[in-house]
Amino acid sequence: MPEPIVAEEGEVFDIELEEDVLRRNREIADSNRRLLDEKGIVAIDVMGSVGSGKTAILESLSEALKGKYRIAVIAGDVTTSIDAERMRKRGIASIQVNTGKECHLDANLVAKALKALDLNSLDLIFIENVGNLICPAEFPLGAHKRMVVVSVTEGEYMVSKHPFMFMASQVAVINKMDMAKYMGVDPDSLEREAKRINPKITVVRTSAKTGEGIEELIGALGLKR
Ligand code: MG
Ligand code: ZN
Repeated sequence: MPEPIVAEEGEVFDIELEEDVLRRNREIADSNRRLLDEKGIVAIDVMGSVGSGKTAILESLSEALKGKYRIAVIAGDVTTSIDAERMRKRGIASIQVNTGKECHLDANLVAKALKALDLNSLDLIFIENVGNLICPAEFPLGAHKRMVVVSVTEGEYMVSKHPFMFMASQVAVINKMDMAKYMGVDPDSLEREAKRINPKITVVRTSAKTGEGIEELIGALGLKR
């Protein structure tokens, strides 16, 4: 078999990755964080592929936490408002950010969303990133924690193929555990791989459907019921 062709750093044409763009993003992320801290709000950046169950996890978390925290969701998506509407149906304040062609949220879009929210009446903001496991890793948003969601239905390589995402996150969720027995995917091996990539990451197994792991996830995110 011929050797794989390996792109050198900066070789793939991608304007997003220009150093000054990343630096500017970090500056805005820092200012988002200062604003959140000033207002006493905790923000969590939620990343994962389309269909991993990010919105379902946020529905479960919001349901469990809404007695304790005043919650809003910033829902990132390329073009639709489906997720924001799902959250609103549950009585959770939600603002949609459509990125158009971009496959990730950046700190500037989040700054705009923060301006549109009434920050004095919030304690907790979940930021649902665009369904993509590659470039969101490079664009911190100013959130206090980053959580990556994979599901057992996505196959056995979801962790090993996305190392930067697991390096950038403090919490990894293995979702759809109710499907594990049908999928032939070993959650132990997903967990081992996540810990190999990032020994400090906390791994939680969940099923948004059965409620498995939601309490544990609340603890892993540093939240309390
Ligand atoms: Mg979603
Ligand atoms: Zn992107």
